[in-house]
Amino acid sequence: MDGHDVLTYNCLNLNSDFFSEEVTITPYTYRAFDPGPYNESMSAFEDYLGKPYLSDSERELYVDFFNNRSPIDGKAPAWQIITVYSYEPDFGMDRELILSPMQRIMGSSASWRHEEYRMLFRFGEVTKRFLHFDRMSQLAMSKNDKYWALRFAARAIHYLEDIGTPYHTSPGTLPEILKIPFLYRSQFKKISSYHKFHDRFIGYRLWREYTPFIRAVSEVNASDFDGLIDMVETTRKRALRFLPEIERLVKGLVHKGSSSHLRTDFSRGYFDELIAVEDTRQIDKASCIVLKNIASAVKYYLEHLERRFT
Ligand SMILES: [Zn+2]
Repeated sequence: MDGHDVLTYNCLNLNSDFFSEEVTITPYTYRAFDPGPYNESMSAFEDYLGKPYLSDSERELYVDFFNNRSPIDGKAPAWQIITVYSYEPDFGMDRELILSPMQRIMGSSASWRHEEYRMLFRFGEVTKRFLHFDRMSQLAMSKNDKYWALRFAARAIHYLEDIGTPYHTSPGTLPEILKIPFLYRSQFKKISSYHKFHDRFIGYRLWREYTPFIRAVSEVNASDFDGLIDMVETTRKRALRFLPEIERLVKGLVHKGSSSHLRTDFSRGYFDELIAVEDTRQIDKASCIVLKNIASAVKYYLEHLERRFT
């Protein structure tokens, strides 16, 4: 999905001492503990707080929503580190890698790390990536390195948000998946465009601080999970359950007008027009349910982090 930063920001309790604490920025010294692999162009992991951080396609939908100030005296508040770096895994570190002979089925190494399909076999490793960065956060904490403990935890939050995104749990409903062998190219394109539509629709709404979406995120309570494993498994199961309804509504909107010509750009202009012309009440409502599921997990994890740190 898009809009990870807004989603995370609205899950944070900005009044807490823990998240307002100013934290000293430290260099990356974890290569030996976390060999990745990561895309070489991104693997220095320097700090970029206070700078534009989104890739071009996301920047196109972005609207400023918080004070992304530059660090002062080498320090930045914990909430800002969590907000910005909860987007970090989408900036290229997982791109163009060879991770598994099966990654082609999902499209790319980035999909392999950010999604997980369970169809006879398990494809993708988004759950593993969450657990990995949660462990890295604990390692940094054991070294008293609060900046990296938070930055790794923020990356874990990114993967947790992906776990709760319906299109990251399955390429589509069973009838759509069963068409793949017969209509390989066109079906693949169709399925990926539904996925892209919903990812970008959520980002478009969140960045514009669309009230029902922001309310869904900020008002939901942390769910009562029985530990982190229960949290990821339950969040994923719920997201998978929402998929048929999301798919039905996305199809209805994407195929409006000329059903033979499938749009795939989903630009800012596309969504401006969509919300002006179409009735989006149902997709808005279904998306709020998706966001509530994710936010209730992120809040549980944030509370877990706060307890761990203090
Ligand atoms: Zn992602």
